[in-house]
This record gives sequence, structure tokens and C-alpha cells, in this order.
Amino acid sequence: MCRIAIFPGSFDPFTIGHDSVVRRALPLFDKIIIGVGVNADKKPLFTVEKRVEFIKSLYEKEPRIEVLAYDTLTIAFAQKVHANYILRGLRSVRDFEYERDIADLNKQSTGIETILLFTEHQYGCISSSAIRELISYGEDVKKYLPKPLEK
Ligand code: ADP
Repeated sequence: MCRIAIFPGSFDPFTIGHDSVVRRALPLFDKIIIGVGVNADKKPLFTVEKRVEFIKSLYEKEPRIEVLAYDTLTIAFAQKVHANYILRGLRSVRDFEYERDIADLNKQSTGIETILLFTEHQYGCISSSAIRELISYGEDVKKYLPKPLEK
């Protein structure tokens, strides 16, 4: 069986913490589809097109990584692309509580398993929301944004 995972998120913006999850998960799956969620209730800093374009540029040398936007329930997106796993990252107990409830719900409704990877400790404090705040104060955030994957 082909192991396909979606890595869903807002990715507003995609950070070195997200990149670390993707790189470490790559040996576990045949394919990872990074799903950029469109949430009608949230006003993003970067348009979905910009987010998709940036993430695609990071992984253009890796044919096993695909980047798609979606505006449905995450689980519906997973089913649409025939994924059998949902990949998420865990930074804290707060992440854990949130992820556990959603993972249980998704498992019960569709049988799709959630695979969680712990953050690498140096990235534990990195979040898209903190980076957006730095940007709003005109700070340079380059060091929190990933570099393209070399193959
Ligand atoms: P969402 O809005 O769905 O929480 P995010 O874009 O904030 O989406 O995050 C997507 C996933 O990446 C989530 O599982 C989140 O816990 C994980 N993540 C975010 N930042 C980090 C980090 N620094 N290290 C590890 N995982 C992270």
C-alpha cells in the first residue's frame, strides 16, 4: 500500500518548524501533500496563492512532496487526495490536547490515522502567529523561514 500523508495547516507563513516536520517525515511516507487551508473566518497575512507558491519553491526538487490549497474540512481533503495519514507537529501540551481531540474524531469518522512528530527543541517556540507579529513591527524574519531543499 502506498503511504500518503497530508500535512495540513494555515502556514501563514510556513516556518522552519513546519519544514523540520516535513523533512523528518519524508522517510516515513511515499508521498507528503502539504495542504494549505483556506479558512473563511481568518484573515491571513499572506494570500493562499502566495503561501502555496512559497512552499512549492522550497520543495521543487523533491517529487514526493506536493503542495495544494484546500477549502474543505481537513478530513474531506485527506479523502479527496487518497491520503491514509494526517501528519501534524507537536510543540507543547497545548498542541497535544488540541491534536488528540481532532485525531480521535478523524479516526472514528474515517479510520485515517494521525501521525504526530515532536518539534525539534530549538523550534519549539516558533509559530506562524509570532512571526506575523514580528512582521507587523517591521522586523526581519528571514531566519525563521526555511531554505529550499537541496536534492
Ligand atoms: P493550524 O492553523 O492548523 O494549527 P499551523 O500552520 O499553525 O496550522 O501549523 C500546522 C502544523 O504544524 C500543526 O500541527 C502545528 O502544531 C505544527 N507546527 C507549527 N509550528 C511548529 C513547530 N515550530 N514545530 C513543530 N510543529 C509545528
